[in-house]
Amino acid sequence: MYVKIALLLPLTLMANMSCTNSKHDISEGLRQHNLHWSYSGETSPEHWIDIEKNSDCGGRHQSPINIIHNNANPAKNQNELNIQYAPNTLISKVENNGHSIQFDFEAGDSINYHNETYHLKQIHFHEPSEHRINGIIYPIEMHLVHVSKTGSISVLGLLGEEGDESQLFEFFESFLPIKEGMIKDIHQKIDLSSLFLEDKPYYSYKGSLTTPPCTENVNWIVFKEPIILSVEEVLKLKNNMPINNYRNEQPLNDRVVTYHF
Ligand SMILES: [Zn+2]
Repeated sequence: MYVKIALLLPLTLMANMSCTNSKHDISEGLRQHNLHWSYSGETSPEHWIDIEKNSDCGGRHQSPINIIHNNANPAKNQNELNIQYAPNTLISKVENNGHSIQFDFEAGDSINYHNETYHLKQIHFHEPSEHRINGIIYPIEMHLVHVSKTGSISVLGLLGEEGDESQLFEFFESFLPIKEGMIKDIHQKIDLSSLFLEDKPYYSYKGSLTTPPCTENVNWIVFKEPIILSVEEVLKLKNNMPINNYRNEQPLNDRVVTYHF
């Protein structure tokens, strides 16, 4: 998932210069700093720990993970998750941020999770999926990023499988193509209740943002059943994003995944 942060450029620059003397070291420091994370080459996910010095990317509670159903802790649904999507919510804009296609939302849609309200801020996509279920990689993963008043993050992860056309994806993709760095205003209604997420089984666990700074303590809610979209819809999204814009599987370590049904 992708959340914008301010770059800590002046601080890093000072740190680099204060501990170096030769011209060579300074230029090396500058060169290093100019490396921005990506999904390929020398700034690909396996290098994020090195190039994003102040990030949590090397932490022990990282995302995504491979969810093994038989290892998940089953819990009969106790209404911990309440999805409150309103039919009149507006999408404000779509952006190609160079990592994904992201749709930003105006106030209106929210979820209630463990008695805290989280407001839907943005939706973006990964191709192929970041989370795996029983080792299976899906063609698409959609992340619905929600933030509470105190800044806590809950993300709904929806895996996408190829089949019939999806009206929702037709709507999203009616604003494509969009070139890297471009933003288009939308200001149109979107009804996410058409996803019918209420009462669907899901997995939950504590993880992180899947992009630098890989901040931990994200509540992950990954739905067990994939949503269906057409091959053409997958391809259209794919053609507007960097190739393979996913982070590889992270170790579970001491965490437990809960299966809500
Ligand atoms: Zn994401």
